[in-house]
Parts: sequence; structure tokens; C-alpha cells
Amino acid sequence: MDFALSAEQEELVRTLRAFARKELAPRSRDWDRTGEFPWPAWRQMGELGLLGLRIPVAYGGQESDYMTFGLAMEEIARGDFGCTYGIQLAGLAGEIVGASGAEEVKARWLPPTARGEEIIALALTEPGVGSDAAHLACRAERDGDSYVITGEKSGISLAMVAQSAVLFARTGTGGAKGVTAFLVPLGLPGVSRSPLRDMGSHSVGRAVLSFDHVRIPLSHRLGDEGHGFYQVMKGFDYNRVGIALACLGVAQISLEETMTYVKERRAFGKPLATFEGVSFRIAEAATHIDACRWLCYRALWLADGGQRHSKEAAMTKWWGPKLAVETIHQCLLFHGHYGYTDELPFEQRMRDVIGLEIGDGTAEVMKTIITRELMGREARPY
Ligand SMILES: Cc1cc2nc3c(=O)[nH]c(=O)nc-3n(C[C@H](O)[C@H](O)[C@H](O)COP(=O)(O)OP(=O)(O)OC[C@H]3O[C@@H](n4cnc5c(N)ncnc54)[C@H](O)[C@@H]3O)c2cc1C
Repeated sequence: MDFALSAEQEELVRTLRAFARKELAPRSRDWDRTGEFPWPAWRQMGELGLLGLRIPVAYGGQESDYMTFGLAMEEIARGDFGCTYGIQLAGLAGEIVGASGAEEVKARWLPPTARGEEIIALALTEPGVGSDAAHLACRAERDGDSYVITGEKSGISLAMVAQSAVLFARTGTGGAKGVTAFLVPLGLPGVSRSPLRDMGSHSVGRAVLSFDHVRIPLSHRLGDEGHGFYQVMKGFDYNRVGIALACLGVAQISLEETMTYVKERRAFGKPLATFEGVSFRIAEAATHIDACRWLCYRALWLADGGQRHSKEAAMTKWWGPKLAVETIHQCLLFHGHYGYTDELPFEQRMRDVIGLEIGDGTAEVMKTIITRELMGREARPY
């Protein structure tokens, strides 16, 4: 058993940590306040190869291993949580389009995504279904050599700025087996977008996407009819670990800043760090973050070895975001009334991270996956 990162991975962590500190952290608050989309940062992430991690080399990507993806999520989150959405969505789209797209679709959409010039959103959730995504209602009707898409997708990250979306629509009868994936350009007639007013991650621009008889060529179907749901679920496992690591990255930087602060800030004539009521909470948070991080690394190690990792991924996805919210909250409190202001980053970080207690699957849904993996189908509620 080897718990060390490779020399290459150590170098990647050093590079990304410096990038996040210098280029992202100083701008993160402005992006939160203005909601402005950080295209320059996206291009920089493209230059660093972060948006092509799961895109085939032939289309401008790196085809990196999953561990590299996880380390990138963790490090970028230390500077700006919103930017990690770029890594995860380019990863999911890169994998689905790279594996199942027609040549013309891959050649058109993947290289600009890897360069950080364009974005492919992932449109699964609908106004009527989220956790229960297999029962989605959006329809794609075959009409000669095209499909006509009608329906609504809700809560879609980056949808206000994306140029296209991997969209899941019903082509067959009810349930998961009737769902097919498509690459839908969002500039087509019949597509409209309306923004959601989120409590955090403002630059991510979540939105409702409406499709009113949107016609796309047959070539834009990704894989066979009826395979869409399985395509996205495959990617969700490793992506959940990446989300957990991003949340832990935010918790870790918050804890590091708090350790510096409590050594300087004095009360009752002594540094705060000398009070066990403070230092023991820090020791507990550090313990939990370390344990959760190693669970994440183990899940990615399983993924890289081609082994099943749904249980471990679900464990990290309910625990990581929850732990991060609790840790950041405690860090905010240890900064006293300053922590409550928007001069310090803790309130923004809490608002940002709470979103991914929900996005990509809630804690309750993760626990149904864990119980199914532990106890079999008899433990499934549906
Ligand atoms: C920040 C953010 C980013 C997102 N980005 C995207 C995106 O890019 N693309 C996309 O398609 N979607 C996206 N989503 C949507 C997200 O995937 C859904 O919100 C999520 O799957 C939950 O679905 P829902 O909101 O409809 O909640 P519901 O399914 O209505 O659930 C509501 C509550 O009921 C609980 N619940 C549901 N079923 C069960 C059960 N069986 N047992 C116990 N409790 C249950 C849930 O845990 C939750 O607490 C995003 C959401 C957020 C918040």
C-alpha cells in the first residue's frame, strides 16, 4: 500500500495551488458580487489543460486519469469554487461526447471546450424530476434524419453561458430504458433560457432551458437510443468524488486561514489557539477532512483501476459537502463578527458549497445507493 502522490501529481498540486492563489482567489469575491462569468479564468484553465482532462487527446484533451481530475478539483476550489464546475462539466461532457459522439460532433464541440472558449452544459434535471431523473418527461421525436426536442430542463449549471448541452430526453417508453442522450446546440431556434437566482456560486449561472420543437440532426444523438441514462450514471460516480474533493478543498483553505487567525487573535490575554474550545474543534475538523479526503482518493484509485466504486463515490458525495459546510461554518464563527461580514470569504464559501449538497445527487439519494451496494436490492426503496 502506498499513500504517496507521484512526483508528477505533487508537481500538479504545486502548480494549481499557486494558480488558484494568484489568479482565482483575488477575483472570486467580485465574480460572486457581479455574477459576471469568468471567461479569462476559463481560458487560463484551458491553457493549463484542466478543461480537457476527460476529453480524448485527438480532440484537444488529455485523457488524464481520475486521480488527476480529483486533485485538480481540490486545488482549484481553494481559489474559486465556481471554477470547479468547468472542470467537472467539461469532464462529463468530454467523456460522454468523446465516447459516443459522431466524428463531426466531436470535432466541432470538444476542442473549444478543452481550450476554455466554449461550454457544454449537462441537462438532465427537469421541473418535475430531479432525484428521480429516470422518469424525465422531455421528449425527442424522430422525424426522418432529425430529432425534434420538446420539454424543459431546470437547474442547469452554466446554462446562461453554454453554447451547447448534453441533453437527456425520452425516445422510448417510461423509465431509464427510454432515455437517450443528445448534443444540442443552444443557439438553435426554439431554445430559450431563464436564469435562476441562486444563493451562491453566482458566476455559474444556473438556468432553466426550454426547448420548443428544437430540430437537431440525427448525427447529434450520442450513442444508441435508450442508452442515455446509463451513460450519465457511469460518469456520475467519479464526478461525485470530484465534487467531494472540491468541497474539501474549500474546507481545507478555510481551516488553514483559521489556524493562522487563532494564533494571532487574542482574548482574555491569550491567543485563541490556546483555548481547547477552539483548538480541539480545529483538530476534529482536520481529522474529518483527512479521513474524507482519503476515502475520495481510494474511490478514484478504484475508478482508475477499472473497479466498481459507486458505493465509495456515494459515501464521499454525502459526506464531503456536509463536512465542508460544517467546517466553513466553524471557521466563520472563530473569526467572530468579522467572519459574518462579506469582507472575509467564509460566508461566500458556505453559500457556494451548500449548492453541491444538492447538485449531482442529494445525501438521501447517495445513502440509497450505499444501502443498495451494501445490502442488495432488498434494501432499495424503489
Ligand atoms: C448547485 C446545483 C447545480 C446543479 N447543476 C445541475 C446540472 O448542471 N445539470 C442538471 O441536470 N441538474 C443540475 N442540478 C439539479 C440537481 O441535480 C437536482 O437538484 C438534484 O438531483 C435533486 O433533485 P430535485 O432538486 O428535483 O429534488 P427532489 O428530487 O425533489 O428532492 C427533494 C428532497 O427530497 C429528498 N428525496 C428525494 N427522493 C428521496 C428518497 N428516495 N429518499 C429520501 N429522500 C428523498 C431529496 O433528498 C431532497 O432533500 C443542480 C442543482 C444544484 C443545487
